[in-house]
Amino acid sequence: MNPHLHTSRRIELTVTDLKQWSYCPRIPFYHHVMPVEIARTYKMERGRNVEAAVQAMERRRGFRRYGLERGERRFGVWLHSPRLGLAGKLDLLIVAEDACYPVDFKDTEGGVRHNHRIQLAAYAMLVEDSFKRPVPMGFVYLVPARQLVAVPVGDKERGQAEVALSSIRRAIEREEMPEPTEAMARCTACEFRNYCADIW
Ligand code: SF4
Repeated sequence: MNPHLHTSRRIELTVTDLKQWSYCPRIPFYHHVMPVEIARTYKMERGRNVEAAVQAMERRRGFRRYGLERGERRFGVWLHSPRLGLAGKLDLLIVAEDACYPVDFKDTEGGVRHNHRIQLAAYAMLVEDSFKRPVPMGFVYLVPARQLVAVPVGDKERGQAEVALSSIRRAIEREEMPEPTEAMARCTACEFRNYCADIW
C-alpha cells in the first residue's frame, strides 16, 4: 500500500526523480510506490568521469568562464525546499555577490538536452529558495567535451520543471503506472523490468 496516500502532505521529490522521469517515467513511480528494499536496488550512479571532472574543476582558478569577476565555489551542495517539496544535490554552485549560478555536470555526448535544462531549472528554484538570491542562469558542464554551456533557467524552463514534478506526483498519488519509455533498448538492463510485465 502506498504510504503517501495516508498523508495530505505533498510528496517529497528529488531532482534525481526528474532525471529518471525523463529516462523512463515508470522508474520514479516504482521508487515511490514500492517497498524500499525493492526500489533501492535501482541505482543511477554517476560515473567516475563526472567525479574526476568535478575534482578537476575544484582546482581551477578564476571565474571568467562563467562571465563573472569573482565568486565562491561550493561543491556537492545539498538543497531542499519545503515550498517546492523538492530536494537535490548540486555538483557545483557559484555564489556571487548578488546572484547564484548552479552548474550540473553531465557525462554525455551530443550537447545539452531538454531534460538537462529542466533539471537545471529545478536546481535554480532550489538555490533561490535556499540562498535567497536570484539565479539568472545556470551552466551544464559537458564532461566528455570539457565544455561549459550557459543555459537559461527562466519562467519557461521552470514551468516545465513544475509540470514534470506535478506529473510524477499525480502518478504516485493515484497509483497509476505511467506509460513506459519509448526507448525500449533502455528496458534490457533495467532493474525494474520484472515489474513491466505488460511490455515483455
Ligand atoms: S523496464 Fe523499461 S519501461 Fe519498465 S521501468 Fe525499466 S525502462 Fe521503464
